[in-house]
Amino acid sequence: MATQWTDHWAARTQHLKASSIRELLKLTARPEVISFAGGLPATETLPAQAIAEACDRILKTQADRALQYGPTEGYLALRGHIADMYRARGVPATADNVLITTGSQQGLDLIGRVLIGKGTPVVTEAPTYIGALQAWLVSEPAMTGIPLDDDGMRIDLIDLNQRINLLYALPNFQNPSGVSLSMERREKLVDMAHRERFVIIEDDPYRALRYSGEDLPALLEIEAARLGANWDSDGRIIHLGTFSKIMAPGLRVGWVIAPTTALRMLALAKQGADLHSAMLSQYIAEELLREGIIEGNYPLLVRIYRERRDTMLAALEEHLTGLAEWTKPQGGLFIWVKVPGVDAHDLLAKALERNLAFVPGDNFFFDGRGRDAMRLNFSCMPPDRIREGVARLGALLAEARHEPLASPAR
Ligand code: PMP
Repeated sequence: MATQWTDHWAARTQHLKASSIRELLKLTARPEVISFAGGLPATETLPAQAIAEACDRILKTQADRALQYGPTEGYLALRGHIADMYRARGVPATADNVLITTGSQQGLDLIGRVLIGKGTPVVTEAPTYIGALQAWLVSEPAMTGIPLDDDGMRIDLIDLNQRINLLYALPNFQNPSGVSLSMERREKLVDMAHRERFVIIEDDPYRALRYSGEDLPALLEIEAARLGANWDSDGRIIHLGTFSKIMAPGLRVGWVIAPTTALRMLALAKQGADLHSAMLSQYIAEELLREGIIEGNYPLLVRIYRERRDTMLAALEEHLTGLAEWTKPQGGLFIWVKVPGVDAHDLLAKALERNLAFVPGDNFFFDGRGRDAMRLNFSCMPPDRIREGVARLGALLAEARHEPLASPAR
């Protein structure tokens, strides 16, 4: 007799949301597909040789520790280096403020376990990172989405008459829109969190991937500059970082920086999740950080991605003018394209027939909005395929414009 799994699922599984990006990645694995769907680093940027050499050295000299169980908080030397990076930017963090996570995705999951319960008021950007929605919606928070403009989250639209517990912000080259929070809004947001007493989750995987404009301080740095020696007791920002976009996502090493009280609770939740992140990956990250290899790779990353961003923006100008509107990111991996009057799911079905993929915009909303938008990734395809893919997209959109509009209720 077939097992009726539905009789066994826990109630919270009703809120598990499939990432159509992960599903799409299966379809787009065929080499003939031009995929703007994923968010992967370009393979040629992965420091494979340096990782092989580091791995060899680690296994020859420190295998007894790198292959053993380790502390939940992470490898102390790595936590120390990460704290140093933030101290250089004025955050008075020590290793005690750093928790190593299995990618920053785990940081989001642990935050969900520790800070989000049924009905917890959570404010996000709208659209926002799909992985945060996946991690948090299972806890049934009361979500509010704040629209974006070219300067990032419209913080003037946050309703301060409603209680807020948690605000999730991606200040640099937001996934999926590519827009960044202006300096003025960064300062105001930190003020607001302290005045209104909510916690900010700052997710910052893309800061090093800046191709134009000036580097802006993290919300964490702005807060630390204001609080000085009181940061560890009065700070209300939990900041997430990751080696995924600057080293290699497959190693799954990320980090959380937070005041020690919050950090200890997150570490407690991590004990039940995975005991600790892979020690070998942490040793490799520590070695590459110490040797300056990670930072040494930034110019290559920036050169390759800047060319790809510029190629995609020029191709959009050439093929989509009059058919769509799009963001002009100063960094990161994504461009957000609005296609008013077109259903991005219908368009994707046709695009896949022509070996083209992108992510329909509603994936990045928790309330079904965004069907008239899409996320395009520019990091994974070489420039000639970006040009070809955008030309296909332009042709599809021109055809869609000539078809009668689907029912407006959609
Ligand atoms: N946050 C954001 C905004 C992301 O774009 C990603 C990866 N796409 C993550 C978190 C998770 O990254 P990782 O777990 O690989 O560190």
